[in-house]
Amino acid sequence: MASPEIDALTQALARLPGLGPRSARRAVLHLLKRRETALAPLVLALQAVEARLSTCEICGNVDTSNPCAVCTDPRRDTSALCVVEEVADLWALDRSRLFPGRYHVLGGRLSALDGVRPENLSIDALIGRVAAGGIDEVVLAMNATLEGQTTMHYVADRLGDFPVRVMQLAHGMPVGGELDYLDEGTLAQALRARRPV
Ligand code: ZN
Repeated sequence: MASPEIDALTQALARLPGLGPRSARRAVLHLLKRRETALAPLVLALQAVEARLSTCEICGNVDTSNPCAVCTDPRRDTSALCVVEEVADLWALDRSRLFPGRYHVLGGRLSALDGVRPENLSIDALIGRVAAGGIDEVVLAMNATLEGQTTMHYVADRLGDFPVRVMQLAHGMPVGGELDYLDEGTLAQALRARRPV
């Protein structure tokens, strides 16, 4: 029934995680009925982000500045580094506000099945950051999945030559648990009770 433009908008929204065709149609209708208060601000926000979107050359976070807001935050403890698989994990951990340091995003996890090898992840960049000095503690906050744990042990091994404390999240993370889906209390507890690898 709708015009091609409205159809295209509905289809674009329907492809977003957590939405589907039905939610997308409701969202579109909402936007069309509220041109000034919902549609226009959304367009401006999308354009602003799209124009400045970049990947942080230091940590791999996505942000509208490079280096990202986390890396340039002067209140961060530069001696502590938290290594995560994906940007979503960085955001989940940072929401908990319990880790005072900075992050490093690997960009995935080692997987024989999917053919993901160490050189496909930003592990060399991590080693470079640690080798540059000034870091005392590295927290390996991998997901509690088989591949996450394989990745953690590989990275821990690579960090073995450096004078840093290499820590992992405490048990209490459900087995198979992905950081992004944990409630903040569980995540905070896993971080607070971190232990050596
Ligand atoms: Zn960064």
